[in-house]
Amino acid sequence: MDLLDVLVEKGLRREPPTRAEALAVLATSDDDLLDVVAAAGRVRRHWFGRRVKLNYLVNLKSGLCPEDCSYCSQRLGSKADILKYTWLKPEEAAEAAAAGVAGGAKRVCLVASGRGPTDRDVDRVSRTIEAVKGLNEGVEVCACLGLLADGQAERLRDAGADAYNHNLNTSESTYGEITTTHTYADRVDTVEKAHGAGLSACSGLIAGMGESDEDLVDVVFALRALDPDSVPVNFLIPFEGTPLAEEWNLTPQRALRILAMVRFVCPDVEVRLAGGREVHLRTLQPLALHLANSIFLGDYLTSEGQAGRADLEMIADAGFEVEGTDTPTLPRHRAEAGGACGSACGDDAQGPCGHDAQGPCADGAPDRGHDPAGDGARLEGCGGHAPAAGPCGSAGEPAATGEPVAAGEPEPSAGSEPAAGSEPAGGSVPAAAAGPRTDLVTVRRRGAGTDLAPNA
Ligand code: SF4
Repeated sequence: MDLLDVLVEKGLRREPPTRAEALAVLATSDDDLLDVVAAAGRVRRHWFGRRVKLNYLVNLKSGLCPEDCSYCSQRLGSKADILKYTWLKPEEAAEAAAAGVAGGAKRVCLVASGRGPTDRDVDRVSRTIEAVKGLNEGVEVCACLGLLADGQAERLRDAGADAYNHNLNTSESTYGEITTTHTYADRVDTVEKAHGAGLSACSGLIAGMGESDEDLVDVVFALRALDPDSVPVNFLIPFEGTPLAEEWNLTPQRALRILAMVRFVCPDVEVRLAGGREVHLRTLQPLALHLANSIFLGDYLTSEGQAGRADLEMIADAGFEVEGTDTPTLPRHRAEAGGACGSACGDDAQGPCGHDAQGPCADGAPDRGHDPAGDGARLEGCGGHAPAAGPCGSAGEPAATGEPVAAGEPEPSAGSEPAAGSEPAGGSVPAAAAGPRTDLVTVRRRGAGTDLAPNA
C-alpha cells in the first residue's frame, strides 16, 4: 500500500507511524507535496474538522534572561534590539489579553522570560491569571514560565491556569548544542510536573536550527511519548544578534512536510502553527491550515506577526472556521482520558463530535496505550493530555512560544547549510526560498510593554 494511504489509516486509528515512515514524509519530493498535505489533511479533519483554534501571546516579562538558548532573542548576551521590560501588572496583562480575545482567541498564553519562576513570581502570575480570567470570561489560560520547581504547577493550577507550556524544542542528542544552562532532562521534568498537576501539557519544537531529519523525528516521537494535548511547531526566526542569526534552512515546502510529519505522529493532538510561519511558509501559510488545527493570532513574544485581520481572512478564505469558546478543542477520548484541558477540552455538552461532520469519535479508535505498530513508540504519547508552550517556548517565539532553550554559545550552526534531508528528494530548492529573508523579521514594537495598541 502506498505510504500516504498507510499513514492516513494509522492516523485515523491514532496509531503512530514507524520512524522510517516519518522520515519518508520528510524526504518526499516537491512533486508529491500536495499529496502529502492532502493525506495529513484527512487526518486533521477527522479529529478536528475545519476548526482553527486561536491563541494569543502576552509577554509578561521581556528580555534580560540569564539562560543561553541560542535561538532566543531574550537570551543572555543577545544583541537583538528587542523590547525589554519587567513584569506587567496583572491589569496590564488582562487588558493585553482582552485584545486577543476580542480578535477571536480562546486561549491566552502568559509567558515570562527566565530560567523558571520563584515562588514570588508564581504569586504574581497567579494574580495575573485571576485578572485575565476576570476580564475575559471563559478564556483558557496557559502559563509559560520556564522550569518548574516542586509544587509550582499545583499552585498555578489552583490559581486557575488550564495549561502549562514548556517545549522540548529539539532532540535529546542535539540539545546541548543549542543550550548549555539547562538540559533536555530538565525540560522533560517540567512537562511531567505539569502533567502530574493535572494541567493540560503543551510542548513542542523549533525546526530550522540546523537539525537533521532524524533529530526532527526524534523530538516529535519524544513529544508523543510525553503525551501533550498541544504541540506548537515553531520555525526558527533567525534574529540578528543571536547565535542562530545565519540559520536560514527552511523552505515553505520543507515547513509543510514537517507539519505533516507532526500530524501523522500526533494525529489527535492540537498541532499549533507557531512562531516563524510568516517568515518561512510565507504565501503557503493557508496550506498549513490543512495540517495544524491551531495558530497564534497576531504578534509573538519579541517579533511581529502578520496583522490579526489577515490571519482571520486567511482562515476564512481557506475554508476553515475559527473555533468558538463553546466548542471543545480536543477529541472526546483525549478530554476524557486526560481531563487536563480542563478548559475547553472536554465536558462541553455539545461534545467534540458535535462539531465535526466526520465524527472523530465514531471510528472505534484504539485505547490509548495500544501500540499496533509494535515499534516501541508509546501510543499514549499523543493520545491523551496536554502541554503548553513555554515561555520561551511555546509560543515559540520563535523562540517565542517555544521555550527557551539555553545553550552555551552554541556556534551558529556553521554556515547554514540545509540540514541533511531538508531538501526535497527532487533536489531542487526554489531559488526564491533559498536565501535569508531578514526583511520578514520585525522586532515587536507594539502591544504589551508599549503604549501602542496590540495586533489582534
Ligand atoms: S528561551 Fe526562555 S529560558 Fe531560553 S533564553 Fe529565551 S527567555 Fe530565556
